[in-house]
Amino acid sequence: MIVMKFGGTSVESAEAMEQVISIVKSKLSRKPIVVASAMSKITDTLLQCAQLARDGHESQAHSLIQDGLAKRHHQAIEKLVQNSLRQKLLQDAVNKYLDEIKNLVHGLAILGELSPRSLDAIVSYGERLSTLILSVAMQEHSITAELVDARKVMITDENFTKAAPLLDLSASKAREIFLPILKKGSVPVTQGFIGSTRDGTTTTLGRGGSDYSAAIIGALLNAEEIEIWTDVDGILTTDPKMVTDARLLETVTFQEASELAYFGAKVLHPSTIWPAVEKNIPVHVYNTKRPESPGTHIVARETKESKSGGIKSIAYKKGIAVINIYSTRMLLAHGFLKSIFEIFDKFETSVDLVATSEVSVSLTIDDAQHLEKIVSELKKFSTVTVEQKKAIVCLVGEQMKYTPGIAARVFNAIKEINVNMISQGASEINVSFIVNESDVSTVVQKLHCEFFE
Ligand code: ASP
Ligand code: MG
Repeated sequence: MIVMKFGGTSVESAEAMEQVISIVKSKLSRKPIVVASAMSKITDTLLQCAQLARDGHESQAHSLIQDGLAKRHHQAIEKLVQNSLRQKLLQDAVNKYLDEIKNLVHGLAILGELSPRSLDAIVSYGERLSTLILSVAMQEHSITAELVDARKVMITDENFTKAAPLLDLSASKAREIFLPILKKGSVPVTQGFIGSTRDGTTTTLGRGGSDYSAAIIGALLNAEEIEIWTDVDGILTTDPKMVTDARLLETVTFQEASELAYFGAKVLHPSTIWPAVEKNIPVHVYNTKRPESPGTHIVARETKESKSGGIKSIAYKKGIAVINIYSTRMLLAHGFLKSIFEIFDKFETSVDLVATSEVSVSLTIDDAQHLEKIVSELKKFSTVTVEQKKAIVCLVGEQMKYTPGIAARVFNAIKEINVNMISQGASEINVSFIVNESDVSTVVQKLHCEFFE
């Protein structure tokens, strides 16, 4: 059995869904469970409807439901489902959902408030609509598909909008619900992103959570593989916008993929990784629009030998602020780092790179929302300077640690660039450093040339 997850762009229109159907058809022998996102942008539209309603603009919310939701779903149905009885039933079912959305919107408008719980109720319709249509369209194309309400399987805690799955409960539900369908030779089609509390209240796993759903379902059922079908070929040696010669990576390890996820390698949601890693289930990223492309295989361990000094990919992130903290009190004192990190903790700001010397600490953040407050607290016991418009450049590769001389090659390739805060993570799978934002493209191009060209 495999899990096939199709993201928002993979189900964005009738044409896209037809492509999905043909891909699923080609994999029927592997007994797929299909997990799908909402049609692209629909989650945003639903959010917007909810906010409009809360702010008292109910009629605007209604227009948005009409123009942004009803039209797209009905258009897809018309193209996908020709059988008139089937089409009628599906249209009725979709209209029923749209009416429910309108009722929710009305409720929000009356209350003038939008709780996380109501938000989850309303955004869940995106996935419920897309999978409803996809499952019927699959039947139309003679796949015996069966729609499964993910809320019956994915049981979560009550942390609305970012709920955590309760794995033991969900595992038994997943077996109970999916296995009989697979046994009959049917294809279960279910929603990513959504779940429900033990008492049946709708929850969501957080934005972009469909990958996570797929990984969890795969892990709970011990799938042979989890396929993430998206709109890019896979993970590349670097950002193709920066280097036109960026190449597709055949394999990356889970650890490499998690390191890259931080840098917005948009391919995978970071938390996709853990349920699959724990069970050693390979994840394969494919492009729905180019199913012939080999994609990227995410594996537990690399078996191939590296031709690029162990470096797999060069990533970067702009918009970084570097905070330098000096204090002579730090000399021979303890508890200094603790008092620094307590401040970041207080403002819920995560720190990415850290470099220390005896009397100074430099660290980076990418979320400058609370920067001023953080700095003013730090200033109570140290001298602080802040440098903005910086970027982190990061070379990722698990086999780097077995390759001597990597650092020399890296810094020799960019020797005319001013580099700060060089750091090698404890896992030795990345080398990161800070440069000016304006130097990023030169740095990335030079490094790509050094290691991949
Ligand atoms: N539809 C949800 C979102 O847009 C979940 C997902 O696409 O993964 O965040
Ligand atoms: Mg998505």
